[in-house]
Amino acid sequence: MNKVIKDNKPDLIWIGSNKYKINYSPKLLADDGDELYGQIVYSENIINISTNYKIHFQREGLLHEILHGINYWYNSNRLSEKDIIAMAHGLFDLIRQNPGVLNWIKED
Ligand SMILES: [Zn+2]
Repeated sequence: MNKVIKDNKPDLIWIGSNKYKINYSPKLLADDGDELYGQIVYSENIINISTNYKIHFQREGLLHEILHGINYWYNSNRLSEKDIIAMAHGLFDLIRQNPGVLNWIKED
């Protein structure tokens, strides 16, 4: 029996002028068989997030894939995977520790 997850998970996101659909699946595998937290498919404007991990990892995984999307759209993909991992950790902590700052940034 499937668990009903009561959660406001986003199902789409804009990155620049690209709209990505966000899919959640119980298992996500790379081409080489490794299990993934998330994955972005630029050619199809899709972000896949694995629900096989705790919600904390799903959230950071989504942020990680969003940063890949930003790197792709605004930065010609010049950041390395290591850079993306570091930025995702840092931004995830920043958002959680300073929600007021994000509210101020998004004000008109
Ligand atoms: Zn990555």
